[in-house]
Amino acid sequence: MKFSLTEPIRYVKGVGPQKEKLFNTLGVYTLNDLIYYFPRDYEDRTKKKQIIELLDGERVAFDATVNGNVSIVSIRGNMKMLKTTVVDSTGSVSLTWFNAIYVKSALKPGRTYTFFGQVKRNVNKIEMINPVFEECGSDKNTGKILAIYPSTSGLTQNTIRSVMQETFNSLGDKFDEFLPESIRLNNNLVDINNALYYIHFPDDEESYIEARRRLVFDELLLLQLGLMQLKYSKDYNKVGIKFFVSDEVNKFINNLPFKLTNAQNKVVETILEDMQSTKPMNRLVQGDVGSGKTIVAAIAMFNAVKNGYQAVMMAPTGILAEQHFNSFKELFSEYNINVELLSGGMTAKQKKLAKERISSGEANIVIGTHALLEDDVVFKNLGFIVTDEQHRFGVKQRSKLTEKGENPDTLVMTATPIPRTLALILYGDLDISIIDELPPNRKPVETFLIGEKLQDRLNSFVSKEIDAGRQVYVVCPLIEEDEEKIDLQDKPKLKTVMEVAEEYKKVFPNYKIEFLHGQMKQSQKDEIMLKFKNHEIDILVSTTVIEVGVNVPNATLMIIENAERFGLAALHQLRGRVGRGDEKSYCILKCYSFSDNTKERMNIMTKTNDGFKIAEKDLEIRGPGEFLGVRQHGLPEFKIANIFADNLVLEETSKVAKDIFSNRRDDINYKSLFDKVNSKFSEITL
Ligand code: ADP
Ligand code: MG
Repeated sequence: MKFSLTEPIRYVKGVGPQKEKLFNTLGVYTLNDLIYYFPRDYEDRTKKKQIIELLDGERVAFDATVNGNVSIVSIRGNMKMLKTTVVDSTGSVSLTWFNAIYVKSALKPGRTYTFFGQVKRNVNKIEMINPVFEECGSDKNTGKILAIYPSTSGLTQNTIRSVMQETFNSLGDKFDEFLPESIRLNNNLVDINNALYYIHFPDDEESYIEARRRLVFDELLLLQLGLMQLKYSKDYNKVGIKFFVSDEVNKFINNLPFKLTNAQNKVVETILEDMQSTKPMNRLVQGDVGSGKTIVAAIAMFNAVKNGYQAVMMAPTGILAEQHFNSFKELFSEYNINVELLSGGMTAKQKKLAKERISSGEANIVIGTHALLEDDVVFKNLGFIVTDEQHRFGVKQRSKLTEKGENPDTLVMTATPIPRTLALILYGDLDISIIDELPPNRKPVETFLIGEKLQDRLNSFVSKEIDAGRQVYVVCPLIEEDEEKIDLQDKPKLKTVMEVAEEYKKVFPNYKIEFLHGQMKQSQKDEIMLKFKNHEIDILVSTTVIEVGVNVPNATLMIIENAERFGLAALHQLRGRVGRGDEKSYCILKCYSFSDNTKERMNIMTKTNDGFKIAEKDLEIRGPGEFLGVRQHGLPEFKIANIFADNLVLEETSKVAKDIFSNRRDDINYKSLFDKVNSKFSEITL
């Protein structure tokens, strides 16, 4: 009988309610889900050797004859140990199984079987523990390449494999080819039925490589076509505002207390060009911490206001919004522009008044937090939108703000340096500009890695900085005692913000020390941050809430406790809080455990200040799934592609996607491909 791919997996022979539930926990509900449940690894059981050739440590198969009975010995309580010896013409191997009573009846003395397992070999003895075995020539569990699946307890590899086999048996060549033949031929791709079969049951390395390449190609091509379609429908169907460039923009730029860097100038120029077009702008500005993105946004917002529109900037935290608010007020003080703040930390009365000024149009520039997204925030004529630190917001929030204007221009700013390949995928719906230059005279932050033994020396360094009139950040990964208890035993000790603050207070009774964490009230957090900014605090012990954006140029030392617990991108972002003034700055990464992985990651931090290099390494070590929560962007996770390893395929598919999109959208031969794109992307609304 033939099944349809949308059928639930319980229709497969051997899948009862219990197994179905287990598969469901893996995200496998339908036959289609199952077929696209790809192996995480493979075990090659095709290679057979003679006993004399077996090498210590290798996993390998060999044929041998059982030389006598299987003996059973009881050890430690209920544990049973089964032993026997097998031979071929070149030597003998001693085999041992634990608690596998069935072996006794399954292995007949004098008969020959194929065994597979890991070889343990020393000078005069060859052993194998718990080998797999079967009748010679049956080739069920040996003699082939076996897929190994990500699994869950209760679901064995054998079960998954046989359910998979059963499914393919019932389905036959069921999968409709959606790639036009010309694309398959031009790019040397196997057809879809072969690809799906051989990814689960490869004959040899080559068939696996071919299968994988086809599936990676599909995954990347469909994604890129989907993103192009989104971008197309967004950009081409809407008519946005055609701004002019006010003469006053140049005056504003020339009056700034500093000269723009070349990189800033270039991005400003691009944005002003975008603004003059009727196509709504959708631009991402990427720039390392401290590269001066804020002023670029401010210039564009200034121009929008001079065109008679309102402009808004959304920041991820109240502290940051307030900081932008204060600097914008100063920046625009001579230009007759009203700057308004709207954040969750304000009183109900303050908010009400702010909303009134926003809806009346009295507020020209609005700075705010998520509070801006509420339904009762209504603009008179919103024409320009900026979201700061984009990676903190989901795509949905971005579009919610856009809906408050009539196809306004939008600018998205992120300090998170994303390698170009990933940016193309993550932000495929945006145009991208990069500020790849820091303002002059920025000194790189000198970074050191230490263990806890060096705390005394660190303390004298702390007092040296503070006595020279400067300030110190200490960053900890966690806040509450409770959270620590949840942690597993093998994790290194974690200190809370309060504990660390107490320790520093003991060592430095004369310094002003405060702590800050995410669960404090907004007003409290803002107060402490303000005190730190005004130098009423010497040492600020904090969680990562300080990660985003606040500018305290007098802070020259950052100590990061349990640095091993942070991702590289987060460490880089944190480190960007120092090195903002004229004085040399330092970052101390304090680790409590030193695995190879930790050492590798910390070494990258001590060696470079280049956010792009760091991000690339981070991506390499952790993979794109983890990197900044790719999921939050509303994109599907990759099932098989790895944008690092598959860089070449990514380039191929980029070219193919562009060509298809420009030339083949109405070609009947491409219809099933576009159907596939549409069905895949119907769930995703960017
Ligand atoms: P980020 O890109 O991290 O948001 P900011 O916009 O906060 O960086 O800029 C960091 C600091 O650099 C601010 O104090 C800003 O006034 C200053 N700055 C920006 N551009 C320049 C420049 N061209 N020359 C000197 N200082 C600049
Ligand atoms: Mg910023």
